Amino acid sequence: MSQATSPTNPYEQLWKQQQHFFQGQHTKRVERRKQQLSLISKLLKDHEEKLFQAIFQDFGKSAFETYATELGFLHHEIGFAIQHLNRWTSRTSVPHGWVNFPGKSYIQPEPLGSALVIGAWNYPYQVSLLPAISAIAAGNTVVLKPSEMAPATAEAMKNMINSHFAAEEFHVVEGGVTETQQLVDLPWNTIFFTGSTRVGKEIYQRAAKNLTPVTLELGGKSPAFVLADANLKEAAKKIAWAKCLNAGQTCVAPDFVWVESSVKAAFIEELKVALGAYPQTYNSNNEHYVQLISERHTQRMADFILDSSVVFGGNIELQHRFVSPTLLHPVGWNDAVMQEEIFGPILPVLEFDDLNAALSQALQQPSPLACYIFSSRRERINLILNTLPFGGGCVNDCLMHLANPRLPFGGVGHSGSGRYHGEAGFLSFSHQKSIVEKSRLFDPPVRYPPYLPWKWKLLRRLLS
Ligand code: NAD
Repeated sequence: MSQATSPTNPYEQLWKQQQHFFQGQHTKRVERRKQQLSLISKLLKDHEEKLFQAIFQDFGKSAFETYATELGFLHHEIGFAIQHLNRWTSRTSVPHGWVNFPGKSYIQPEPLGSALVIGAWNYPYQVSLLPAISAIAAGNTVVLKPSEMAPATAEAMKNMINSHFAAEEFHVVEGGVTETQQLVDLPWNTIFFTGSTRVGKEIYQRAAKNLTPVTLELGGKSPAFVLADANLKEAAKKIAWAKCLNAGQTCVAPDFVWVESSVKAAFIEELKVALGAYPQTYNSNNEHYVQLISERHTQRMADFILDSSVVFGGNIELQHRFVSPTLLHPVGWNDAVMQEEIFGPILPVLEFDDLNAALSQALQQPSPLACYIFSSRRERINLILNTLPFGGGCVNDCLMHLANPRLPFGGVGHSGSGRYHGEAGFLSFSHQKSIVEKSRLFDPPVRYPPYLPWKWKLLRRLLS
């Protein structure tokens, strides 16, 4: 067992219950895992109205957007996992090699044990329940700690899950910093964290004391490159949509636009048109635009805006936690808005003359979670794809790489480590147990002493 935990940790009993349940082998049967996944799907349907109400309370987010970006995602992921679970959980044979002859070699995926999942607030259902679904598909028990910043959705998840799952198998714990730290200090078999890079570092350090492996799903400043050969109207429409979705509170939102100088003026005009389709003032009945999570976060946006040259938007209604879609230009790398992830509906527009120089500049920045490339020239698209490190992205679109569960999702460097969605999520919560199974037909004497000359010769031939 890993490092002893403090007897005063209020979650130790829950952790012990989950360890005991896991060690009782209860979560391993594949048919049972499918039943538990189906139960989550059923609960999401039965509680749909309550989930819609809770997210409206936290964000003013519409049922349409909640279904498109959260609940629909979860149903899709569950269906995909159930469909593929037999294959994912099967042993995979690998070539055995002469060294081990006679016999066979295979990999057997195994659940890691008890998983702690820590969620962020921005897509509260998706970023909390999606990893939990992967963990359950892989045969783990789960404690889920959603973000306290979205309290209504955290409570709705707690009510939905805790009344239908035994605490030893899947349990939601509400809490903030202290509670999360207490949870992280326990020797889980794995921790899955979604949130900021700053807190991710802290979680990683605390988990290291128990050698608990950690998956980090973090953020960053994801660029959208718009090259002179792009379809500007289409690029503007897609970038505006991706920036306005969830009022920019999306980990993979295009943080800023990087446009080739020759088309800058035309592109800004297209962006103004595209952003003009979104609400410019607060309206409590609005179904197309959500509120910012807090007044503090709204004030952060206001500070960026007041500090910069606004070419479109800039309407701030602090009391309604509302900021209209806003374009900033010109913007320099030293401006405040370029020093941290924006996470709101503000879009700085930077320009470049020379793509290679822009890429050199990009290489000086921390690796982002996403990158978007708008261009029609293959060699220029490939140049960006092959030069920059980033988690994932799209060519001539934004965000849509998340919608394919066959694409592993995750960051690189400061935007995170490890990945999930589909099979990648299953693998994140699994150990790949490697087995050589020997045939007892005969036991070649080569490895045993005495080390005769013929064995020496054979050894060198086999291992060269
Ligand atoms: P956050 O890091 O403030 O909080 C995340 C979680 O950590 C919450 O549950 C919170 O209770 C807990 N927490 C906060 N401070 C803590 C501390 N000191 N010690 C222990 N736990 C602590 O992040 P956030 O504001 O909820 O989310 C925004 C960030 O998350 C953005 O950077 C965004 O890009 C990122 N994000 C990433 C993904 C992804 O999939 N990569 C998805 C959504 C959000």
